[in-house]
Amino acid sequence: MAKKILLLPGDGIGPEIVAQAEKVLLFLIRKGKLHVELEHGLIGGSAVDETGFPLPSETVKKAKQSTAILMGSVGGPKWDSIDRPLRPERGLLAIRAELGLFANLRPAFLFSELAKASTLNREVVAGLDLMIVRELTGGIYFGNPRGIRELDDGQREGFNTLVYNEKEIKRIAKVAFETASKRNGRLCSVDKANVLEATELWREVIEKMKKDYPAVELQHMYVDNAAMQLVRKPKQFDVIVTTNMFGDILSDLASMLTGSIGMLPSASLAHDGKGMYEPAHGSAPDIAGKDIANPLATILSLSMLLRYSLFEEELADKLEKSVANVLESGLRTQDINSDGMKCIGTNEMGDAVVNNYSTLVS
Ligand code: NAD
Repeated sequence: MAKKILLLPGDGIGPEIVAQAEKVLLFLIRKGKLHVELEHGLIGGSAVDETGFPLPSETVKKAKQSTAILMGSVGGPKWDSIDRPLRPERGLLAIRAELGLFANLRPAFLFSELAKASTLNREVVAGLDLMIVRELTGGIYFGNPRGIRELDDGQREGFNTLVYNEKEIKRIAKVAFETASKRNGRLCSVDKANVLEATELWREVIEKMKKDYPAVELQHMYVDNAAMQLVRKPKQFDVIVTTNMFGDILSDLASMLTGSIGMLPSASLAHDGKGMYEPAHGSAPDIAGKDIANPLATILSLSMLLRYSLFEEELADKLEKSVANVLESGLRTQDINSDGMKCIGTNEMGDAVVNNYSTLVS
């Protein structure tokens, strides 16, 4: 039976950018290089509009039957004031929890052609290649109790809970140690162990696991220092492992080192090998429907899907090479454009990658 890939375009620029990655998939299917079936589903605000829910049960069913999921992004001002449980972002949190996608891999890789697009000096970022491993289904985004309550004096109080148990820490640390083993063997665990007990335990558990990975050099760093070091000297890092919220913030920071958030892919993996792949950015409602969004983060997310869920290393390598070739040829979307380059739209960028890919995949 052919493996299934579920496409969830979502909201804002989601449909435009997922369509570009779909072109790559259709090319591979046409060429006989990939034996997969493509399915489509609803998530986020568009799902609320059609079904009343940000994660319809039909989408959960399709996701569970798929080997991998490629998502665009969710959210937008249209849904910002609806009931909190129905907001698009809740659909995203729910699908991560439903599928047990606990490990989020977010690479920050600088294509040499884009060194000028970074706001930092070229020497600071040239050759940057780091991987953030973010815990995705625990921590303060999921902890209970949570809510907004009224106090006796009539004031309202918002509250959330930061909680991690040993099992959650061990399973994300295992992914991080293994990822570091396959890269340059350096792992930095980021926490706030001096203030938050949940991350004091985080540090203790990860430190104990070090003995199982003698080839990996482990370092611990407080999150405030890590934010500073990422801007000061980002190339000191190879793999960073951190909690859900710290990872959310640090990976956006790392993305800007590479010039644009429109370049960064991500993979969210479960125990059973299922993976959901999505660009690191949001739904960019300010540029939706204008054919100017950068589809490369989504195309690079597809490359991660080929690598981690379909084990097609060569097809993944070649897709990354095609992105590099297209950038080298001087083509740019608006967000990464610079003097002397040719600015093109979302669709044209998707076509340029497929054209180049067709010369590499025979
Ligand atoms: P955003 O990432 O959508 O946009 C931030 C800025 O980056 C905007 O100026 C946008 O135009 C630009 N940008 C983002 N992606 C781009 C691309 N591919 N090409 C060119 N420019 C790009 O973040 P935001 O504005 O804070 O959030 C907008 C909506 O997205 C909100 O509703 C938020 O909740 C949602 N969001 C969703 C996800 C997700 O689906 N995983 C992640 C973050 C934010």
